[in-house]
This record gives sequence, structure tokens and C-alpha cells, in this order.
Amino acid sequence: MATVRGATIIAESLKQQGVEYMFGIVGFPVVPIAAAAQKVGITYVGMRNEQAASYAAQAAGYMTGRPQACLVVSGPGVIHALAGLANAQSNCWPMILIGGASPIVQNGRGAFQEEKQVAAAAHYCKYAHAVEDARRIPFYVEQAMRTSFYGRPGPVYLDLPDDVILQEVEEGSFQTAETIPDAPRPQALDENVESALSALESAERPLVIVGKGMAWSNAEDEVRGFIERTQLPFLASPMGKGVVADDHPLSVGAARTLALKEADLIFLMGARLNWIMHFGLPPRFSKDVRVIQLDMSPEEIGTNVPAEVALVGDGKAVVSQLNRALDERQWFYPAETSWRSALAEKAEANQATVQPMIEDESAPTNYYRAFKDIRQWLPDNAVIVSEGANTMDIGRTQMPNNSPRSRLDAGSYGTMGVGMGFAVAAAAVHPDRPVVAVEGDSGFGFSGMEVETMCRHKMPVKIIILNNGGIGGGMDELPADKPLPVSVLTPRARYDLMMEAFGGRGILVEDPKDLRSALDEAMAFDGPAIVNVLLNPRAGRKPQEFAWLTKDE
Ligand code: ADP
Ligand code: MG
Repeated sequence: MATVRGATIIAESLKQQGVEYMFGIVGFPVVPIAAAAQKVGITYVGMRNEQAASYAAQAAGYMTGRPQACLVVSGPGVIHALAGLANAQSNCWPMILIGGASPIVQNGRGAFQEEKQVAAAAHYCKYAHAVEDARRIPFYVEQAMRTSFYGRPGPVYLDLPDDVILQEVEEGSFQTAETIPDAPRPQALDENVESALSALESAERPLVIVGKGMAWSNAEDEVRGFIERTQLPFLASPMGKGVVADDHPLSVGAARTLALKEADLIFLMGARLNWIMHFGLPPRFSKDVRVIQLDMSPEEIGTNVPAEVALVGDGKAVVSQLNRALDERQWFYPAETSWRSALAEKAEANQATVQPMIEDESAPTNYYRAFKDIRQWLPDNAVIVSEGANTMDIGRTQMPNNSPRSRLDAGSYGTMGVGMGFAVAAAAVHPDRPVVAVEGDSGFGFSGMEVETMCRHKMPVKIIILNNGGIGGGMDELPADKPLPVSVLTPRARYDLMMEAFGGRGILVEDPKDLRSALDEAMAFDGPAIVNVLLNPRAGRKPQEFAWLTKDE
């Protein structure tokens, strides 16, 4: 009778449940899993650090709508990948981590890389389990995958001991699993839909906030329909950008601080009132702000600020309910209100504040001048990856996103070091679209070695490093006396040469007048490229009304 090996059952089960990409690093005991995955047609991307691989898997899951896989070795491999589980959990993104484990028969003996992996992973996961027999693999893979992307998405973990990976079982001697259907899309109660619309009608200064729950639920057509129908001003969370185009006339993203502070009612769509949204509290929000909250997770409703109306359900389903209910109403938010003009004035004033920096031609350059060329050069269909403090914050305001799920950044967990893994994922999932990673020099450094992955896999990622020689900013020269200031990095470091080392293109830009041609050259190059833009170490952000991480009152 024919037999089949554990590794093959894993690969076939993952494939059956929609895994198309596996990011990982092989070694004991997972080599057979990677090889089997390739055999069944899963794209295997071998990376240089498990952390970056775990970031790649979750970004791929967010972009494809199904959990994608990360494969790591036992012990330290799993520990490195915990970073990705934590980040995925914080962002509500799906992924499945497959960890090799020491053989069951050696448990407790001090085996090579023996670790309590399920316990370690469980804290950062919706589901974590060890597979004790190869015949149960289809069951566990189905359960893990389904848990990952049904309801609020999140990471899951499966532990695969060496002896299960190598176990030979008779074909037909075990139960296979059903293929998991698309995630259910629950609707809100009709009465709450009506209450939400009535609340919006009664508001003087309404604001819609679009978060990445709407991007995840593919609600872009419904949300744009709703915004255009109601004519409500909206702004997007960092990764909610692009669900409705940033250049939409109803976007008030350019007056974000004022919009949040003065709104008397916010309609929170698939976004949380966490630190990114300043908890919904004063001084960043008005004390009595009313909240309509749409979320997949009932337990999220009322976090930090009680919700006047709760719409619990799937973003796409609930906004289409709202749109249908609007058919029965003639209402839209009027064209001329003092709220609209205040927001428009503020957006104009903000633009005027940064204009001198945009026009400053001195070398080395500042952020706003650099983004002027990047913005004009950026292809409309680009996937934008971004991390770094000022690089990411200023870039968010200066680089438009006009399509959904096309911005990947440090996210809800504020993680530095995600960029290279995200860029690898974007290149794998969207080989037909330009992938542009705009990185601070510090952010890039966390996983800089993944440029070798990009070169080896022929992923034409264009990396722009805004290089100010430090965490935050650095110095013109390193001082001779020790100790070094804690936030400095090497001034004028030649990150561009790293890319050349592996066969990509690297370009150094010392003067802003050379930036545009460098960007064009990078785009024209048939492969990955780094444009290393030297920045004035003292370049900063436009003055902000509130300190970063404003404390509540
Ligand atoms: P942002 O950073 O954009 O504000 P968050 O990650 O803070 O986004 O919030 C996203 C919210 O979206 C989470 O509370 C999550 O429960 C919710 N969510 C997840 N899936 C869906 C879905 N299918 N429909 C609507 N909301 C969803
Ligand atoms: Mg820096």
C-alpha cells in the first residue's frame, strides 16, 4: 500500500486551504516541508531572518485575504518569528506560522533546539497547537487556518515535530478536511443601521474615519459609495489610506488634527480608538464626541469612548446595508457648512506651512523636498511600504494612496524593521505592480540583509532610504570622544553599496537636484534598487500642535 509523508500532508493541506506563499528559512527539521510545499505549487521565498519572514507572511495574508505561511526551524527559529506573531496580532492580520520542533520521542531530554514552542507562541496567537500524529495534519491545518481569518483576523501557530514531519502513513488511512469557504460576513441589526444614519443627520460636525478593517474586508466600493452619497468628510487611518482615494475631494486628511479635535460625531469604520487615534479622548478629541462604531469584534465596541451606536459586523456587508438604507432617505451632508470651510482653510494653511521646506533646494536635503520628487515620480499603482519615525510620518502626509491595501507601515504595534519583509511580500503577491519602500536609515537597518533575498528572487523592489545618519537624526561627523550619543548611526552610510553587492542597483543622492534622475534610473533598472538620499541630520517635521503621543487630560 502506498504511503505518504507528514511533510507532504502539511504542504497539501496548506495548499488546499488557500496558502499560495510560504516565507521562511530552512534547516532542521523543516527542509522536507519547504520542498513539499514547492512540489504542490506553493511559492517558497527563502529569507535571511525569521523575523522578516514572519512579517512577510502577514503582509501577504492582508493583501490576499487568506492567511499565508511562514516556515521556521525549531527553538531559535520560532523565537525569532514571535516578533511577527505579535505584530500580526496587534494589526489584526492573518498568518500561519509553521514551526519545526524537536522529535516527540526526545521531549524533556534536552533535545537539539528543544523549546516550549506552543506555550511561547500562544500568547501572540488566536490558536496554537502541536500536531502529535501525521494523520491529524489536515484537521489541525483546517482549524488553524479557519481561526486565523474568520472573525477578527489574527495569527495562528502549528508545531510540527521532526518525527511527525517524517512519519510515513498509509494513504487513505486518515480523514482529509473540507476546504474552508470564504469568511462569513455578518450584518448589523437593521435598527442600528437606522440609528447610525439618524445620528449622522443630527451631527453638526461629522467625520468618518476609515481604518484597515475596511481595507481587509474589501469594502472599498461600498465605502466610496457611502461617502459620495452622504457627502461626509472623511479621513483614513495610516493603513486605511486608499480605501477611498487620498485625492478624493471629500478627504480631510490634510486637516487631520482639526478634524479630530472639533468633530462632534465620528463614524469609526474598522478602526480602533487606540494610540494612533489618540484614544478618542481630549485634548485630541472634543470631550463629548459622539461615536458610531463599526467593527467585526463586539468586544472592541466602546473601547476608550462609549459608542452611541454599535454596528457589529463585516465592513463590506454593513456599509452596503447602510447604502441600501440610504435609498429610503433624501439626506446628505450639505455642501456649504462652516465645518467644511474650517477644514478646507486648515488644509490650505497646513500646505502653506510646509511649502518653504518643499521649495528648499539646499543640500543635504530635508524630508519635504525629498518627498516632492518622490511624490511626482511614484507610480499610481505602486504598493507603498514605509517605516521610520519622520520618514513614515511625513511620508504618510506627502505620498498619496489611491488604491486599497497598498500601504504597509509600522502599524498598530509601531514596529520598526517590518519594511523589508513587507516589501518582499508585496513583490511576491503583486509581481505586476511597482513596490516602493520608503525607509528611514534606522528602519532599513533592522532587516537590511533582505536585499539579498530581493536580488536572489528577482524582486524589483525600489527602496528609498532617507538617510539622516541616526535613530531620529544623527550627526555630521561622529565625535572623537566616547561614548557615542545613543541615537547616532554612521553618517553618510553607503547603504546603496549593499544592493550593488548582490547584483542590484545602488545610487547615492547628495544633492536634491539629482534625486529625480536617480529615482528614474532606479525604476528603469530591471531589478531591485536602493536610492540612498543623504538628509540633513537636523531636518525635522513641521511644527505640530500636539506632542507625539499626547497624554490625555
Ligand atoms: P487602524 O489602524 O486602521 O485604525 P485597527 O487595526 O486599529 O485599524 O482596527 C481595525 C479594526 O477592524 C479592528 O478592530 C478589527 O476588529 C476590525 N475588523 C476586522 N475585520 C473586519 C471586518 N471584516 N469588517 C469590519 N471590521 C473588521
Ligand atoms: Mg534616521
